[in-house]
Amino acid sequence: MKIKERFVYLECTTCGNRNYTTHKRLKAAYKLEKSKYCRFCRKHLPHKEKKL
Ligand SMILES: [Zn+2]
Repeated sequence: MKIKERFVYLECTTCGNRNYTTHKRLKAAYKLEKSKYCRFCRKHLPHKEKKL
């Protein structure tokens, strides 16, 4: 069985830059939120998913 995945952006919640792309399952109910390094803010900040 194939697992359908789609790509999403991870957008910095502070400056709004889309710093990362990742993928998640198509029907996943959760929202991705990860602490990632933002090169614009120059520190680790929470990044939220945005559709590609
Ligand atoms: Zn930022």
